[in-house]
Amino acid sequence: MTVFVQKTDSVYAMSRENPAVVTVKSGTVVQLETCDCFGDQIQTTDTPFGELDWGRINPATGPVYVEEAKAGDVLCVEIQKIDVAQQAVMVTAPNLGVTGDMHHGPEIHIVPITDGMALLPGGVQWPIKPMIGVIGTAPAGEPVSCGIPDAHGGNMDCKVIAEGATLYLPVNVDGALFALGDLHAAMGDGEVSVCGLEIQGKVTVRLSVIKERALPTPMVKTADAIYTIASAKLLDDAANMAARNMAGFITRHTRLSLSEAVSLLSICGDLQICQVVDPQKTCRFALPLSVARQLDIQL
Ligand code: CA
Ligand code: ZN
Repeated sequence: MTVFVQKTDSVYAMSRENPAVVTVKSGTVVQLETCDCFGDQIQTTDTPFGELDWGRINPATGPVYVEEAKAGDVLCVEIQKIDVAQQAVMVTAPNLGVTGDMHHGPEIHIVPITDGMALLPGGVQWPIKPMIGVIGTAPAGEPVSCGIPDAHGGNMDCKVIAEGATLYLPVNVDGALFALGDLHAAMGDGEVSVCGLEIQGKVTVRLSVIKERALPTPMVKTADAIYTIASAKLLDDAANMAARNMAGFITRHTRLSLSEAVSLLSICGDLQICQVVDPQKTCRFALPLSVARQLDIQL
């Protein structure tokens, strides 16, 4: 049985104080309907930008309370399906993105999607690869705005968090209080304009609790690799943290020394950028599954 959560059941911060919209047992499949990151406020290019309600930016659908989840556990999120709408929106504006100081005013682009192809500015056709921008659990301490990525997940804007991937998040409070939103039909590493192809949709996930497994969360596993994900104020710090977390993960799960582990990562691993435009920047470190298998590491 699939549990359905509608997009009107949403939050703007991940918080232990948020009341759960639904309670499920570990192993339940949940389908969450999502607004786009603008709270569905922009449907046409002539939408008055100045009249946007900025209090409705980055809603996340949820939170879902998972009965067995206790602080210190890991929440395993199998992303079974991401369905997106037929039209995405992008915005550029002064002070947004890496070219923020070069823009004179806001501009909206509406991007139609047909047969899995997005029609981008310049008439460029680009295949969609839907991903989840905001996904996380409630932090133990102060609430964290859904616009900010951190150790609990949140606005990581990591393009490998996509259909078929499995995400591992920390459980910081009883029930985990899982929520997600901010779907992108596609996005490039860096998210340089501050937008992906922002779009409404539906995500189907299986939520399971893993006990007694210390992982440097957030982590994600795809068909090709295992990744650590880290966010920090500075890109340098996010990069270092992602790589160091992977080195620690390897030394904890093998007999390799730190020197051996980091030497291996220096050759077979890839340090990659998720995004450089949010209040904290996010990097990921990829360990190919072929290497993980040779080391007998399971995730
Ligand atoms: Ca985002
Ligand atoms: Zn987004």
